[in-house]
Amino acid sequence: MSDFPLFIDGQFSEAASGDTFDTNDPSTGVHIGTVAQAGPEDAVRALTAARAAFEDRRWAGKRGSERSRVLAAIGKGIRDRAAELAELEARDSGATLAKAKGADVGGAATWFRTMAEYAPLLDEPEALPQTIAPGPSYNYLRREPVGVCSAIIPWNFPLQMAAWKISMALAAGNSIVLKPAPETPATAVKLAEIIAEAGVPNGVVSIIPGPGPGTGEELVTNPLVDKVAFTGSTEVGRQIGRMAAATVKKVTLELGGKSAQIVLDDADLDLAVDGAAYAIFFHAGQVCTAGSRLLLPDALHDEFVERLVARARDIVVGPALRQGVTMGPLVSQTQLDTVLGYIDAGRKEGATLVTGGARLTGDGLDDGYFVAPTVFTDVTPDMTIVREEIFGPVLTVQRYGDVDEAVALANDSEYGLAGGVWGTPARAMDVAARLRTGTVWVNDYHLLSPKYPFGGYKQSGNGREHGWLGLLEYTEAKHVHVGLDPRRASKRWFDMTVPHPRP
Ligand code: NAP
Ligand code: MG
Repeated sequence: MSDFPLFIDGQFSEAASGDTFDTNDPSTGVHIGTVAQAGPEDAVRALTAARAAFEDRRWAGKRGSERSRVLAAIGKGIRDRAAELAELEARDSGATLAKAKGADVGGAATWFRTMAEYAPLLDEPEALPQTIAPGPSYNYLRREPVGVCSAIIPWNFPLQMAAWKISMALAAGNSIVLKPAPETPATAVKLAEIIAEAGVPNGVVSIIPGPGPGTGEELVTNPLVDKVAFTGSTEVGRQIGRMAAATVKKVTLELGGKSAQIVLDDADLDLAVDGAAYAIFFHAGQVCTAGSRLLLPDALHDEFVERLVARARDIVVGPALRQGVTMGPLVSQTQLDTVLGYIDAGRKEGATLVTGGARLTGDGLDDGYFVAPTVFTDVTPDMTIVREEIFGPVLTVQRYGDVDEAVALANDSEYGLAGGVWGTPARAMDVAARLRTGTVWVNDYHLLSPKYPFGGYKQSGNGREHGWLGLLEYTEAKHVHVGLDPRRASKRWFDMTVPHPRP
């Protein structure tokens, strides 16, 4: 048996083809395990099981309060195995242990626990005003599960993103088939063990790792699927939107970002310098909300850059599990090549490299994908490194004259995922109102909560995840009208037997 098998219809199994692939540690290149590689036929098997589970209502038919107990048990199962999961996540994805514990494992448990609170809220129909027709009627709104969901996720927050999709789908009564990213399949398979033990009925959740577009495309095009929830790049998001349109599936897309951080001239610099460094260098910049464009007022520019560069040089880059390391590797050779390519483009297009800018080797780093925290100044809005999502530890710094210019620069992007403003709250909130992004943090950064909606404006996505709005994306809304006046004379129907008078 593979170290990380498929989980379909409540059973662990190999792929139908028998194919496997390897998952490795991006800090060291060390082999972690073999993974069953799901092909399209495995996707069909998982979707068929999901459909059967949905149709016989073994999960959808439960009260929200019953689903809640199972969701809470999954949350507890994650907490009980937190140490093991965090270490595995650190090894499989290159997350530092602090990030793996706090964001991935802690986040995953929190999402299940919170969705356990939300699930019962869907039980009670919402009363609506009666219709304008004469005679009394009772009108109400039912929030019903969409049906079979498929979820495709990237490699930067593997367990947390699996938890986002599965917890919300389950809270609303759906079945779900999840495909983890091929770079980071390990913890999703462990989550399958926890889900099986928590009492989720067979078929309701399947988890099928595997690289290769064939499997992902099956999840997006198969008519058994009602909704696709995708997190990943804008490019793949566009393809998914197109493919899903053929069968008019519901689609939520959480895509890329190029988030700006605006430092106002009244910002607390101790806070803003640390915050700006955290915003871009957390998880080596492999975060969709990474604050990758820093906008500084002319008067503060030089001092701020000097202090930020000092912070960047204090970051301890190294293997995720090494004591004292504060920034790990990039996830793969491909990602390393991409990021170094962008750094090269920055240099060639005339930006000034003030720190970093290279792969780090020596001292046990040779077999990993390490890049030094990198800062470019003297950038212009048309440069590749300002326009495109790099998904690495690379910050661009732009100057601005007045706040109008700062807002215009921040909004000059095809993306609109998130942003930050550093300054006194009253002024910062005015700026926040003018940013065209789904999230704005004032004097903080990277804070996501299962209770707050998250998603993108513009080409950063469609729909929202998390909170009540996010949960509603996993539901269909059904209006039920109950006429309460039985008298035929009370009805204002169009008479179907009497011809209309000529106009
Ligand atoms: P990606 O290339 O878009 O891949 C994401 C997932 O989609 C993977 O599981 C991939 O697996 C699958 N996939 C690729 N092509 C597909 C297709 N044609 N049909 C179906 N599935 C397909 O992104 P990535 O490189 O893994 O992750 C980095 C990107 O994700 C960044 O651009 C980042 O901004 C974005 N991201 C966004 C958020 C957010 O919340 N907005 C969060 C994290 C990351 P296969 O290759 O096996 O098909
Ligand atoms: Mg790996």
